[in-house]
Amino acid sequence: MARTFTGGKLVIASHNPGKVREIGELLAPFGAEVISASELGLPEPVEDGDTFVANAEIKAIAAAKAANLPALADDSGLAVHALGGDPGIYSARWAGPDKDFSLAMKKVEEALENKEDRSAHFACALTLCWPDGHMESFEGQVHGTMTWPPRGDKGFGYDPTFSADGMDITFAEMDPAAKHAISHRASAFKKLVAACFKSDD
Ligand code: IMP
Repeated sequence: MARTFTGGKLVIASHNPGKVREIGELLAPFGAEVISASELGLPEPVEDGDTFVANAEIKAIAAAKAANLPALADDSGLAVHALGGDPGIYSARWAGPDKDFSLAMKKVEEALENKEDRSAHFACALTLCWPDGHMESFEGQVHGTMTWPPRGDKGFGYDPTFSADGMDITFAEMDPAAKHAISHRASAFKKLVAACFKSDD
C-alpha cells in the first residue's frame, strides 16, 4: 500500500511559478500547504535520469532531503513512436536555449518525413518523496497522432501538433479545461491522489 501524505507543508520541486500554483490549487482540498523549491532557495539537481520517472525521482528526493519536508516533483514530455520515443526526456531541450517550440515542432516534423507511423503520446511522471527517502511514483499518458502544420494558439510546447485519439482538433485548439480533463498530467494526478491523498472533508 502506498504511503499517505498526512497534511502540512509540501515542497513542489519546480521553479516554474505557474506549475506550482496549479499544483497548489489541485492539492488544497487535501490539507497540503505548498511551497516552491525557489521560495526555499533549493538548488536545481542535474536531471540525468533516462526515463520520466527517474527524472521526477531525482528532483523529488533532492528537494525532500534539502528541505527536510515531503516533496512532489513532475517530469513530462512527448514521445513519438516512429522516432524511438524522441524527443522524450529531451522535449524541452529540443526547443533550444530560446525555448523556441516552433523550432522543436519543425524538428519533429522533419524527423517524421517519409514515416508512415505518426502515433505519439505525452507522458507525465509524478513522484512524492519523504525526507527519509521513501518515494511513490505514478505515470500518466495520453495517446494520439502528430499533425502538420501546427494549429491553435492555446496550450504550450508541442500542443499545436498533437491530436489526442478520437479528436480531430489539436491540443492547442482545445479549451484548456477539456485538455486538462484528458491530459497525461491529469491522469498521473488522479493516480497520485487516489493512492496518497485523503480528502479533508
Ligand atoms: P516539464 O518537464 O513538465 O516542464 O515539460 C517538459 C517539456 O515537455 C515541455 O517543455 C514541453 O515541451 C513538453 N510537454 C510536456 N507536457 C506538455 C503538454 O501538455 N503539451 C505540450 N508539450 C508538453
